[in-house]
Amino acid sequence: MNLADSIAQCVLTRYDRLPRSCKPLRRANGKEEWTVLAGIVLRKDEQLLCISLGTGVRCLPHEQLPKHGDILHDCHAEVLAKRGFRRWLYTQLESIQHSPEHAWFSACGSGRWRMHSNVKVHLYISTLPCGDASMTASALLQDPQTALIMATTGRPGIAKDWSSLHSAEEPNGLLRGRTQFNARGLRTKPGRLDAPSTSCMSCSDKIASWICTGLQGALLSRFFEPIYLSSIVIGETAQIAALGNPDSLEAMMADCQSAFNARTAIHRQLADLYDATVAFCSITYDRSRLQLKSSMSAEDIVPATEATSWIEGSEPEALYAGCRRGARPDREHALAHKKRSRLCKVSFLEAYCKLTEESSVEYHQAKQSSHAGTMAYRHAKECLRTGPFSAWLVTSEATGRFRLPPGGNNDT
Ligand SMILES: [Zn+2]
Repeated sequence: MNLADSIAQCVLTRYDRLPRSCKPLRRANGKEEWTVLAGIVLRKDEQLLCISLGTGVRCLPHEQLPKHGDILHDCHAEVLAKRGFRRWLYTQLESIQHSPEHAWFSACGSGRWRMHSNVKVHLYISTLPCGDASMTASALLQDPQTALIMATTGRPGIAKDWSSLHSAEEPNGLLRGRTQFNARGLRTKPGRLDAPSTSCMSCSDKIASWICTGLQGALLSRFFEPIYLSSIVIGETAQIAALGNPDSLEAMMADCQSAFNARTAIHRQLADLYDATVAFCSITYDRSRLQLKSSMSAEDIVPATEATSWIEGSEPEALYAGCRRGARPDREHALAHKKRSRLCKVSFLEAYCKLTEESSVEYHQAKQSSHAGTMAYRHAKECLRTGPFSAWLVTSEATGRFRLPPGGNNDT
């Protein structure tokens, strides 16, 4: 088995062990749910370990951006896997201080931790991620219903309410979801074409950003040197290519190289960063839309409403509408601890505050910390946002103006 297949198999084997209640299901009306699966895998020598995985295809519309950092806005699988990896990093920090010979990290002298040089980080995705990397695939997979909406309504507008969004360029520079397959650029996430718009960037754009800034994000940059992706392993490309012509597979690889690497090549040259390797694997995920479609009619399959997060050493978490299953999203009041996901911003702030003993810091302030690691992360991000990603939609500062709710772990 080649490395790409081994990485995919590592995530799928872990996925198989999840309880049925955390997987897409057959609904009472007989319709089967499909989803996307993604995972982060660490490789040390020849050993592979799945650290986190996520399933999910939903993203809240712009109008439902959470005010308190307690609801997950973006529940696409890739984003949940990445956030799960960050959560795992927090748990490593709790044990790392007491183990000078840590399995994955060593102290690097600046109060931060560096991943061992023989450890590589891989992202597996069961299909091409939304955005630029999947434009050839989207054209091949376009269903008649979408084609009809596009033909009758033209290009749908981006979110009309721009009051809490700002971008370094006119929003016109952005593309929306699965429109304009031939165009390349920053895109918002796709949703149903007749649904309210999201203000969330596509997974292709987010992955391209992680390749340049690392997976650790702003808060954890205080504790870790950047943790870069070594490769991106993508499934079911051969099945998609079979719908097209002999050049389709090559065109999909070109989409990926363009989306993940080419757009930021100069930036990474200056920062001395390598491309992330893109590899297509031959192992398929049986709950993907295409797999279900191969044995059922399109009307009998539906996107999963729930998402799942699993992190090494923890129980899985089932998510609905950005909260833990059973919780009702409430935009006016902060969610109780037991109702919010361990992956949401306020949960991360809670872990950060515990480590820094800064219990009253705002999320936005923590990201603006003057700590050298955080500043370096910010600088890398600013280089992207003033360069190739200048049209990136940035949520206003106001959405980061939240602190830990009084009582921290309250259950009210
Ligand atoms: Zn996506």
